Amino acid sequence: MFANITALPTLDTLSLPDLALQELNIHLRGQLIRRGDADYDQARQLWNGAVDKRPALIVRSQTAQDVALAVTFARNHNLPVSVRAGGHNAAGLALVDDGLVIDLSRMKRIQIDPARRVARAEPGLTIGEFTRALEPYGLLTPTGTCSGTGIGGMTLGGGIGWLTGRFGLAVDNVLSFEVVTAEGRLLKASAEENADLFWGLRGGGGNFGVVTAIEYQLHPMGQVLGGTILYPLSLDVLRAYFDFTSAAPDEVIAYAALATIPNAGPAVAITVCYSGDDLAAGEQALAPLRQFGSPIVDMIRPMNYTELITSLDPTAPDGRHYADTAYSLKQPGDDALKAMLACAEQKSSPFSVIVIHHINGAGTRVAPDATAFALREPHYSIVNAAAWEEGPAEPHLAWAQESLARMQPFASQGLYVNFMGQEGEAAIREAYRANYERLVALKRKYDPTNFFRMNQNIKPGGK
Ligand SMILES: Cc1cc2nc3c(=O)[nH]c(=O)nc-3n(C[C@H](O)[C@H](O)[C@H](O)COP(=O)(O)OP(=O)(O)OC[C@H]3O[C@@H](n4cnc5c(N)ncnc54)[C@H](O)[C@@H]3O)c2cc1C
Repeated sequence: MFANITALPTLDTLSLPDLALQELNIHLRGQLIRRGDADYDQARQLWNGAVDKRPALIVRSQTAQDVALAVTFARNHNLPVSVRAGGHNAAGLALVDDGLVIDLSRMKRIQIDPARRVARAEPGLTIGEFTRALEPYGLLTPTGTCSGTGIGGMTLGGGIGWLTGRFGLAVDNVLSFEVVTAEGRLLKASAEENADLFWGLRGGGGNFGVVTAIEYQLHPMGQVLGGTILYPLSLDVLRAYFDFTSAAPDEVIAYAALATIPNAGPAVAITVCYSGDDLAAGEQALAPLRQFGSPIVDMIRPMNYTELITSLDPTAPDGRHYADTAYSLKQPGDDALKAMLACAEQKSSPFSVIVIHHINGAGTRVAPDATAFALREPHYSIVNAAAWEEGPAEPHLAWAQESLARMQPFASQGLYVNFMGQEGEAAIREAYRANYERLVALKRKYDPTNFFRMNQNIKPGGK
């Protein structure tokens, strides 16, 4: 007669981890999400819909204290840890199978001091949320180029984008970080406090702790002259793009996407930002870009920065399946451009795209050892972004890999860590060049057990 009554668990039927979990839950301001919880599947979704990892726990933190609790819990229970901010790392490093995810996506507070031109921002803000908050003050700071990316991962890896030529990388504009270390301690890292850690966090990714707030130097900024101009895909247009960008002033950054455009076919979509104060001078600076041939469409006009970064969102929507390979290139000759053109012509999906990121100006005049980010020469960072919505992954993975192999003879040494996937240790060492040994020493000091390893990992042993 009692068959339908489910026995309530008593204290002695609970396992120790359950008790510990209850205790963690009590102390958290944020949310503890376990497998089977209603929010679990939504909480493990990333920008890349091809990633299907199943963490044991997700701690949706609200405060630095929550982060410290999660770090301590994971240490005490030997759980592997990952850190998630905007969830845009294409390889899915934000999640860890069977481990604990420190999810910062709800930490979105921002304080702006217009007089000092400083913003303190939490890492769960997306770039779009961040710039939308700054724009009413007529202030901005360098960010990546798409609105959905998190400021957390973007900044810690370096942060290249529309303002790199004028104001440097995102890391060149960071004044301080607040960071929870592998011991669960909250530290400040700035030029004055823990200066070694401050150096390492400016490009060293998530290797040294969980960053819970970032203070940025802001710059006065009105409208930019920006937008996309489309040309039919051709060698001449590619050549003209590289000639234009290699001679561009600091105020001009132009990215090119070798893409398939609905109703237009294979195209080079050049998105540009002129960030100088004088938009009439900007029109002149961008004039050559309008003379590469007959554009399919020209959408370049004065606009707000946030409008520019959101204009690219539809090209890489959340939840589509992605697989990236990437490489760096100095000024390419015709052989390299012909090879790149062939890669574009052989795409396995109309959603796939080759994105050429242009790095110049102020971002390349910072000494390579001034911050952990070492790739300080003018160059291009190129991503073969395979994208598809259904069917098997194999043809798309093959295209991304084959495109990389085809371009490898022309590639220059050292790839931006934020565009890396599973390249491994040799590539990480190359990315940091002469800074690598200093980063290893820093890792030994701040994370000797390699607790934070779901990243472009710098091992404390150096191997
Ligand atoms: C569509 C698209 C466009 C992009 N465009 C640009 C661009 O223009 N410029 C550019 O520089 N990059 C660009 N990127 C790359 C992007 O900067 C990286 O993928 C970055 O890691 C994403 O940050 P996130 O917070 O969204 O990622 P997440 O996936 O949440 O995090 C990635 C990794 O960063 C680390 N991390 C994140 N936040 C923290 C934190 N607070 N504390 C410690 N570790 C942390 C962790 O190791 C984590 O695994 C782009 C990526 C995509 C998908």
